[in-house]
Amino acid sequence: MAESNQGKSQNANAQQKLTQKHLLQKDALYQYILQTNVYPREPECLKELRELTANHSRGLMAIPPDEGQFLILLLKLINAKKTIEIGVFTGYSLLCTALALPPDGKVIGIDMNRESYNLGRPIIEKAGVAHKIDFREGLALPILDELIQNEEMQDSFDFAFIDADKVNALNYHERLLNLVKIGGLICYDNTLWSGSVAEAPDAAMSELGRNIRHYTIELNKALAADRRIEISLLPIGDGLTLCRRIS
Ligand code: SAM
Ligand code: CA
Repeated sequence: MAESNQGKSQNANAQQKLTQKHLLQKDALYQYILQTNVYPREPECLKELRELTANHSRGLMAIPPDEGQFLILLLKLINAKKTIEIGVFTGYSLLCTALALPPDGKVIGIDMNRESYNLGRPIIEKAGVAHKIDFREGLALPILDELIQNEEMQDSFDFAFIDADKVNALNYHERLLNLVKIGGLICYDNTLWSGSVAEAPDAAMSELGRNIRHYTIELNKALAADRRIEISLLPIGDGLTLCRRIS
């Protein structure tokens, strides 16, 4: 069936936003990755959620589809069964996770805003993976502290994806080193913050952008110095740091 005009314009909108959101030197190269490797293999439910999210006023907050594809592969490579996500928004990265988990896998998704999650939830339900998701509404720090109180939760998670308020990233880190098992992965999103981490301190940027740049640089420094983890900072999406817990 021919695509409707509305569908076409939503698609163009999603495409335009993705053009603004990558760290490669040439947009054509990013489009090449999307067109040849990502879109042809993207599950229908992820496409639907990506397009719905692109039309949200804060749609750029979701990870891009090439990063989603990587996340799915990574979760499968490590045979993740029990994972946690901080910062859900409409649920795009959460749906990637739920799709990658085995039928009896579980992901705890934490967000202080249930409204945006509710936008994506029907698509997640239709995809048949909602039973793997335990959504917890609230501030992440107290929720993590509560999880730590339960001894069964300590050293039990295979994987964590952190994509919420950057000011608290190091607070999350200490708690996740308790919750994620030795050999498990903790992943921090936006660790290149649009490339601003390598720009001069007086470079032109918004107050909020400068603030987040500051906390991102502090996080990157702390992760690089932390001997409890092995790390790799990948230039995918807006920068993704993988940390493997080793002690
Ligand atoms: N991971 C999502 C994705 O890729 O589709 C995007 C998450 S968005 C960048 C960040 C989310 O973190 C927002 O939905 C916001 O409500 C949530 N958030 C921010 N600060 C938080 C906090 N202190 N506790 C819980 N959630 C928080
Ligand atoms: Ca992000």
